[in-house]
Amino acid sequence: MSNIIHRSLRQTPPIATHASGITVFDNAGNAYLDASGGAAVSSLGHGHPDVIAAMHRQIDRCAYAHTAFFTTEVAEELAQTLVAKAPAGIQGVYLVSGGSEAMETALKLARQYFAEAGETGRSLFIARRQSYHGNTLGALAVGGNEWRRKPFAPLLMEVPRVSPCYEYRDRREGQSVDAYTACLLDELETAIIKAGPEKVIGFVAEPVVGATGGAIPPTPGYFKGVRAICDRYGILFIADEVMCGMGRTGTLFAVEQEGVAPDIITVAKGLGGGYQPIGAVLAQGAIVDRLRHGSGAFLHGHTYIGHPVAAAAALAVQQVIERDNLLEQVQRRGATLKRMLGDVFGKHPHVGDIRGRGLFLGIELVQDRATKAPFAPERKLHAAIKNEAMARGLMVYPMGGTIDGQRGDHILLAPPFIVSAGE
Ligand code: PLP
Repeated sequence: MSNIIHRSLRQTPPIATHASGITVFDNAGNAYLDASGGAAVSSLGHGHPDVIAAMHRQIDRCAYAHTAFFTTEVAEELAQTLVAKAPAGIQGVYLVSGGSEAMETALKLARQYFAEAGETGRSLFIARRQSYHGNTLGALAVGGNEWRRKPFAPLLMEVPRVSPCYEYRDRREGQSVDAYTACLLDELETAIIKAGPEKVIGFVAEPVVGATGGAIPPTPGYFKGVRAICDRYGILFIADEVMCGMGRTGTLFAVEQEGVAPDIITVAKGLGGGYQPIGAVLAQGAIVDRLRHGSGAFLHGHTYIGHPVAAAAALAVQQVIERDNLLEQVQRRGATLKRMLGDVFGKHPHVGDIRGRGLFLGIELVQDRATKAPFAPERKLHAAIKNEAMARGLMVYPMGGTIDGQRGDHILLAPPFIVSAGE
């Protein structure tokens, strides 16, 4: 019996012994094709020599320096690199250890931004129902994954919730995409007015929904509308790109494809590509300036913020993406994979939708294609598919989207950007 508290306390997973390229091997000699990058993490695959060399160099120079005493060249360079590539106006970077920490940090930064201006009555975040923002208490509170939230509900702050942008399920027969989008934006505006705009800090959303829906892209103009509404009511737009960011959708930031600049963006997973635990919060210059000229400090901090080895790994990942033109490869390979999925599963009686952007693709499973009726949640079809795929040497990321209960099973594919056409 393992002493680790594993995700399942009834089943110990196979022991991964080594990994290379897009394959992970276990101690029983099985090989698994990593078609999900873990959970959309391994952007450069496994064992990338340039990332490993960069980490070695940094460990030799300085493995750790507490941020109460020092900054490091590598953390500064990573922040500069991210700012140079980020949407307009992003100036500040806060380096953390993962996605939930990034979201927690983003929520507090947004709150302090208003508190510095004396707007201490602002305490509400508005979020979407079908969403996942992490497992720490603040991130869990804004997330809409009811299954994960339920046991902890009494510990979570109140979060008004609006509908996700989920065209496949929610656009009515005969309703145009524009009309559907307008309805969603009306709903958001109504929620802000109902909550009282002077009480709202921000609106939180994943540009392309990951873990609760299988790569659900927004409708055209949805995020432009969100940006306009947030501006109208003076609230912040916080984009959670923990899963969909860092090149996964074919652009470094998923919101680039929406033509909007959020006030705050969180990234993690693909930032370090799995080589080190790292996440980041990117903030508009106006937010950082208000704190700089106000209290002079962000009232936050963890022991491992700005970790130099994590920063070295992330910087190397970014440099490889640029040097090897991998964003273009993500677009190309993503289009190929989507076409192949369509060829193989497009007419499958239990595949309702194949969607996504770049190498971030989702397959939605249905009992009936015509009615879009999902399978009964008790069947846990997504988990069964994950297990069956593992038994056949394939890693896919399964999920049961949860909104007002269960809304169907999804399979997420997010292979490393270096995947070859043959693989
Ligand atoms: N936000 C999104 C969109 C995510 O998909 C995740 C993780 O899946 C998180 C936040 C939390 O990140 P982490 O698991 O690194 O804490």
